[in-house]
Amino acid sequence: MRNFVKSVTSNRGSGQDVRVSFEFFPPKTPQMEATLADTISRLSPLNPDFVSVTYGAGGSTRDTTRKTLEAVIDTGNTPAAAHITCVDATRDEVDAVVRDFASMGIRRFVALRGDPAGGVGSRYQPHPDGYQNAAHLVAGLKAFGDFDISVAAYPERHPESPDFATDIDMLKRKVDNGATRAITQFFFDNDIYERFVERVRRAGIYIPIVPGIAPIHNFGSIRNFASKCGTNIPDWLSDRFEGLENDPHTHALVAAAVAAEQVFDLVDRGVNDFHFYTMNRPDLVFAICRLIGIRGDSAGELHAA
Ligand code: FAD
Repeated sequence: MRNFVKSVTSNRGSGQDVRVSFEFFPPKTPQMEATLADTISRLSPLNPDFVSVTYGAGGSTRDTTRKTLEAVIDTGNTPAAAHITCVDATRDEVDAVVRDFASMGIRRFVALRGDPAGGVGSRYQPHPDGYQNAAHLVAGLKAFGDFDISVAAYPERHPESPDFATDIDMLKRKVDNGATRAITQFFFDNDIYERFVERVRRAGIYIPIVPGIAPIHNFGSIRNFASKCGTNIPDWLSDRFEGLENDPHTHALVAAAVAAEQVFDLVDRGVNDFHFYTMNRPDLVFAICRLIGIRGDSAGELHAA
């Protein structure tokens, strides 16, 4: 069962060969902006592979995504990746954003379809003059330049997908068009991830399938979000957070332990790239990185002290 990646040697806690990337979203208020600035200065000294910034459907966050990308670029040492979506936008509109981000020096994109205005679960209609889906968008990006392109993958199937075959076929189209990395939807059951990677490999897809790890800042919120995305919440996970609604300190300790346990188990299974959904908050991700042996440079050590 453990033969889906080359190495099965445990290097837990050594940081050896383990790479991380972080995801931020554009802040909506001055207070959220200040929190994000703190998060960027706290996490960028950990020398992530890249830091990505989400992009709202229909270009709704175009300006704030740009501003957040600038803040990442300003750190001077962290490669920035721009998410880009194609839902509810013409091809010309999407291309204009890509051109603008490229003019800032962005060379990495996370190419996504995006969810329709009604949110997860509502019916997707491609824009008549737009990119039809993420595979089409990847081809459009590749026509622009030799960008590093990541795409989304779904260990528990995309909610709109009738079966795994449809989902994996779409992933294959994205890879055939030039994607070199897939980042997964968050999940908590590593066996599900492992089975998914096996299916993907059997379909002849060999790019890294980087697990998306969601540290749990608020169990109630993540459970709601998980039900919309089709992410399974195992009973053991619910049990661990039961009764901690009004005990934020213990909740944070349990959350760090849960995420570290998940990452350690994946390291034992041979995984060495991790993408963290930071929710723009530094503490849990910083703690987990230390546990897996990622210490970063001295600036991070001093800041963390
Ligand atoms: P696609 O790969 O185009 O399609 C997703 C699935 O839909 C396919 O796998 C397939 O099952 C089904 N499908 C699509 N077309 C067809 C077809 N013709 N026939 C049959 N089935 C089809 N959303 C944002 O708005 N902004 C972000 O910044 C953002 N970042 C994300 C980052 C990650 C790592 C992930 C996992 C998701 C992110 N999302 C973001 C959410 C994403 O936009 C949604 O999950 C969206 O519903 C699907 O996007 P996709 O790129 O996977 O779409």
